[in-house]
Amino acid sequence: MSSSPLLDGERSAELRSRGNGPRVVVGWLVIAAVLAAPAAVIKRRLERATDELVVPRCSEPAVGYLIDLDGTMYMPQGLVEGAQDFFRWLRASGTPYAFLSNTGVKGPLGVQAKFLTPPFRLWEEPVSLRHIHTAAVATAQYLQDNAPNGSRMYVLQGSVSFGHPAKLDSCLRVLRRSARAFGSWQVRTDLSDSEAKEWAAHAGRAPVYVVTCDDGMLMDDAAGDPVTGRKGYTGWDFEVLVRAQWLLQNGGRLVTSAPDARNPFFENGLVLSKLGPGSLHALLLAATYPESADRAIVIGKGGSGGTHYMIDRGIAMLRDQLPPGSPPLDRRRVALVGDTLDTDIKAANLAGIDSVLVTKTGTHTLADLRSYPGVTPGCAVANVGELAMGEGGLG
Ligand SMILES: [Mg+2]
Repeated sequence: MSSSPLLDGERSAELRSRGNGPRVVVGWLVIAAVLAAPAAVIKRRLERATDELVVPRCSEPAVGYLIDLDGTMYMPQGLVEGAQDFFRWLRASGTPYAFLSNTGVKGPLGVQAKFLTPPFRLWEEPVSLRHIHTAAVATAQYLQDNAPNGSRMYVLQGSVSFGHPAKLDSCLRVLRRSARAFGSWQVRTDLSDSEAKEWAAHAGRAPVYVVTCDDGMLMDDAAGDPVTGRKGYTGWDFEVLVRAQWLLQNGGRLVTSAPDARNPFFENGLVLSKLGPGSLHALLLAATYPESADRAIVIGKGGSGGTHYMIDRGIAMLRDQLPPGSPPLDRRRVALVGDTLDTDIKAANLAGIDSVLVTKTGTHTLADLRSYPGVTPGCAVANVGELAMGEGGLG
């Protein structure tokens, strides 16, 4: 069969096909690459692109900053990139600020000591205590406001040391320093089985509290139990949890310093986080449901007591820093800077203030937003150094 000349339409199609040859090849290569790539990788890339549209980069400074510590100013290895730049800018610009930490094992003195200790050294001078508030102090304040004289407290605590006995701090030490009623309470860090049963038997009449104030690790401080002096716990133990369970099932109240489910830690590309106080709170709630369901509170940022005992307190600290005659601080233009969606950003949303998510130094990234529906950062930066804006800043 002889070949026939191409009709106009067929010819132009052939010409288009020849002219598009390289593009067609590239197109097929792209499709092949897409098919070859793991679906999860493609999904993550598409989701990341979507997230970056949802949360804007921060472009305007706030009128004051409430600043998280772990994952925001430092990690277990030391200060994060940009921490010193941000702090220098806060001081130079006169912007009110307060460090607002969910730590349950140290008060402002402990944070101040940490900021002087390499590799966490932030400034050549101590950070003023007027700029530091912690969940340990907030827990003490909650108990001061709510626990009557004579209350019994089973304190499951953590402690921390910075290489020198004088720099040791613990939840118990914070309670002793911060709660005026401390001397009227029966505070124990180590109960025997028989003591726990006796407390449980009277929990309906004499108020009993189980206070878990730790950063995940249970560790008694050097002073031991306030009554017996016995060296207390060095880790979570089944018997410790069971004694707390007995108290909570028989009328005791559960007070936990912070809702953090974990403490972020990364090493060689692995996520090696450790349990946080929120995970242990959840465990105790599950073990005592339904008895303790209406008698439990979490104090730190993101907890049920967080707005009053952390955010409102932090904003009061910012107001105290304003020069005389300054216009009133607009609460809605105060920003909480943090790395964790379900503590920092949730707390800001609950309190009606602005928020900044740091995405490269702590627990969460923008890709985690879909796991926390309803939690919305006002804007995002890679690290706190990017918040040093305008005069004297980097941005
Ligand atoms: Mg944090």
